[in-house]
Amino acid sequence: MNIKSVIKEEVLAHKAYSVENTLYPVKLDANENPLTIPEALRAEFAIRLAEISLNRYPEAGSPLLVSRFAASFGVAEGQVMIGNGSDELIQILCSAVARPGAEVMIPTPTFAMFGITPVNAGCRVVEVPLDGAFDLDVAAMSERIKAHPPALAFIASPNNPTGNCFSRDRIEAIIARSPGIVVVDEAYYNFYGQTFLPLLEKYDNLVILRTLSKIGFAAARVGFLLGNPELVCELNKVRLPYNLNTLSQAAAGFYLDHEEVFLEQAGKIRLWRDELYSDLLKIAGIQPRRSDANFIFFSCDFDSDRIYSKLLSGGVLVKNFNIPGKIKNFMRVTVGTPEENGIFLKELREILQQLGA
Ligand code: PMP
Repeated sequence: MNIKSVIKEEVLAHKAYSVENTLYPVKLDANENPLTIPEALRAEFAIRLAEISLNRYPEAGSPLLVSRFAASFGVAEGQVMIGNGSDELIQILCSAVARPGAEVMIPTPTFAMFGITPVNAGCRVVEVPLDGAFDLDVAAMSERIKAHPPALAFIASPNNPTGNCFSRDRIEAIIARSPGIVVVDEAYYNFYGQTFLPLLEKYDNLVILRTLSKIGFAAARVGFLLGNPELVCELNKVRLPYNLNTLSQAAAGFYLDHEEVFLEQAGKIRLWRDELYSDLLKIAGIQPRRSDANFIFFSCDFDSDRIYSKLLSGGVLVKNFNIPGKIKNFMRVTVGTPEENGIFLKELREILQQLGA
């Protein structure tokens, strides 16, 4: 077989989304919660998993979870769809709009999958760079909306990797001006608390994404899409029937039963983030940016590729964003436990001293 004549050009042109292996002792690259299920709750979790009928297919569409999380979000059941992580929901949105010529608008830099998934689904991606303060460039986005209305726009707030929330009025302006769907991805909601949920009543083109991945359940892959019921009904036609396996459904139910425990963990992470930020401010040769999320984005006065590999040699894995232009020599570090953050800071200080900062 000639693979090049079978696989579509857009896919051939992609580099695979690379995920570092997880063997580094200090893993601060993927914006995960550094804490896991507290000891006191583990037996209960184990029993719930052991009681699952592994011989049966999962409940199609996770109806019990839809009902429980709808109540928790304060929306109607028809407004909720649950996915195998928000990644799957992003894929469902892209597949549903991917007609010939369909465009997806994204402000950049942003979450990598906003650029990769639409292309794989057959859409064209239009990137609109953020302004100098890493906020939305509403004028440029509005111009683009007028010239060629995108079927879909993705806006992460707080944004990954920059860590800031975009101005609320700018996001609302884009929602109001778009004839297409505007997705506000609130993956990092628990570390800031600003939400667009109340605007679902005002805008029928608004879709909100949430996830359990950043609050301790990344392994379970559970994401939520909230939107107007007619749209959710159409999107459900694209979803695979058994998208969320029974183990993940049980994990999501367990999360809701003990939500306060995980919200308390998020509270600790916010404190550790603020400590990490003040510590980073004191290191010569880097400039951290304030963060509304569970990670910190910082620029380096030296080649970040070198800093990245030296950190790896010290057992510390972060994410390197050395992209020419606005984010040359930038890195992103996830907030870990105080011990992990301490090891990262010590390694970073030593590396920068060696480089002559
Ligand atoms: N949205 C944003 C903005 C993210 O940063 C991430 C994870 N890096 C995701 C979605 C993916 O979330 P999930 O694990 O639910 O697929």
